[in-house]
Amino acid sequence: MALLEISNLKKSFDRNTVLKDVSFSVNKGEVVVILGPSGCGKSTLLRCINGLETVQDGQIILDGEVISNRTKDMHLIRQKVGMVFQSYDLFPHMNVLDNILLGPMKAQHRDKKEVVQEAEEWLARVGLPDKKLAYPRQLSGGQKQRVAIVRALCMNPEVMLFDEVTAALDPEMVREVLDVMMNLANDGMTMLIVTHQMDFARAIADRIIFMDEGKIIEETDPGQFFSSPKSERGKKFLENFTFRVYRK
Ligand code: ADP
Ligand code: MG
Repeated sequence: MALLEISNLKKSFDRNTVLKDVSFSVNKGEVVVILGPSGCGKSTLLRCINGLETVQDGQIILDGEVISNRTKDMHLIRQKVGMVFQSYDLFPHMNVLDNILLGPMKAQHRDKKEVVQEAEEWLARVGLPDKKLAYPRQLSGGQKQRVAIVRALCMNPEVMLFDEVTAALDPEMVREVLDVMMNLANDGMTMLIVTHQMDFARAIADRIIFMDEGKIIEETDPGQFFSSPKSERGKKFLENFTFRVYRK
């Protein structure tokens, strides 16, 4: 059974239709990578799933429950969906531990001791065992992004959404963040990932969804997509990435 089911989703901003009849599902433990050119609607799709946007039509179902266009209990839904963005948005005046504790304590009213222990375990697992009392300004970009991932994980979400989480990082810090995501995937976390790191996408994805202009153009396994995409648009999209290799 699908953990996350998106059916016939439509999303517009005024007259601009950004998602046009998007349907797909994600099984428990599955890792789905969403690829597509800038502006095709990837971030909007993740924001709809996380309840940050309302939709004009269609439905998002998580674990059998409709989560799209909820109003009064949206905060409860959002706890089931963890999201990490390009900008880590840690509170600068709070240390790492307090940043992580905020959600579980304020929104979930959980026992502090229990959450602290969980936070410490996660921090150790992402390679930051000694940073719980550090302030965001004392951390590198890669470290801050790993804290942001831990913060989302400590809400015990059913699915994690990642929107270009390495896009703003210096190249030498990309790997440490991708490794954390790979470990999560190996541990069975259900994940929906938007990334421009093609090697990573190929390595981590159980399935690739390729979007263009608000629609899913193809949905296939990574081996197929990266060796011979079915669509012309998919081929064109992948060609762009060869240009990243330096040429005279
Ligand atoms: P991607 O993440 O694939 O680059 P986005 O989902 O950010 O694409 O954007 C898809 C389209 O939606 C773009 O045309 C963008 O300008 C538009 N868009 C996104 N957010 C808003 C918003 N809050 N208001 C108006 N237009 C938006
Ligand atoms: Mg985006």
